[in-house]
Amino acid sequence: MQNISLQIIDWYEQNKRELPWRGINDPYRIWISEIILQQTRVNQGLNYYLRFVGRFPAVADLAEAELDEVLKFWQGLGYYSRARNLHKAARQIVEIHKGVFPTSYDDILKLSGVGAYTAAAISSLAYNDAHAVVDGNVYRVLSRLFGVETPIDSGAGIKEFAALADRFLDRSRPGLHNQALMEFGALQCVPVSPVCFSCPVAGQCVAFKTGRVDKLPYKQGKVKIKERFFNYFYIEYDGCIFIQRREKQDIWRNLYEFPLIESDRQLTVSELMNTAECNEFFRDIESVIVKRVDSPRKHVLTHRHIYATFVKVEISSINGYLEQLTKIPVGDLDRYAFSRLTELFLETL
Ligand code: SF4
Repeated sequence: MQNISLQIIDWYEQNKRELPWRGINDPYRIWISEIILQQTRVNQGLNYYLRFVGRFPAVADLAEAELDEVLKFWQGLGYYSRARNLHKAARQIVEIHKGVFPTSYDDILKLSGVGAYTAAAISSLAYNDAHAVVDGNVYRVLSRLFGVETPIDSGAGIKEFAALADRFLDRSRPGLHNQALMEFGALQCVPVSPVCFSCPVAGQCVAFKTGRVDKLPYKQGKVKIKERFFNYFYIEYDGCIFIQRREKQDIWRNLYEFPLIESDRQLTVSELMNTAECNEFFRDIESVIVKRVDSPRKHVLTHRHIYATFVKVEISSINGYLEQLTKIPVGDLDRYAFSRLTELFLETL
């Protein structure tokens, strides 16, 4: 095993991408990069990382910021719980650890939004502690190298791969080993058409030797996709529009949105305008002019497909319902954080 790790580290030294979070041991910046890269490709995440650490260069800056501003810096990246947790964890570090990033794996693991993977990454990369990381790339590489067929998304698989990654870890340089393995999975042992012909460990790779490269790793089941139907009202009144913050435990919590009616199927405009919610939106308003109705947009999230209809409406007065919402000048829209779905709609106005 040690020999394979050595060869992968050699490969890494020659092939790694130069990235701003490489070669540093600042746990704060490593943490930010790891959270951004959890669900985001490196190319897209790079600019977000640079903007984020430019505005919040240290944990105290992030802790002092308002959540709205942090979400604004996250806008477009998706999985907004990551930004909420970063902000919450920064405040935990200030309150519990007096602003100093915790150094022990167990304390790092207690931070909001930090799981075993992120704690292992921070403690090995920043402090060179012997914790093996297991991300999607590592699952794939280990599964192929050692011919492990246990599904990576099963309870047994998670345990087996964690134990295997731990045995495989080069304890003399865990940070380098972890980075090398992840980069090897990202560039060489990729999901489709891995570059086996030039792979330095092909001679030891069980999947390669047994013709199972395109079969491994195994997964046990598909994720069930839920369909949701969102009907947004972009309501114009006197140069202003109405927005509200999403407060419930649901996607996009704490982001802003237009008044929303969620239906259990796609509604026609007349069906929509006759719903009880719509009557509430426009009760006692003399003139309600529908100016534009967009065809439903499909927005794909990991476990959900959202079908969103945006209805642009002009009204002649406001009522008690609209008074409870946040009324902002149209020109101020870019000060608020919206979902990518809504951003795409705003780009068409
Ligand atoms: Fe991955 Fe192919 Fe190398 Fe095996 S031989 S580790 S499948 S790139």
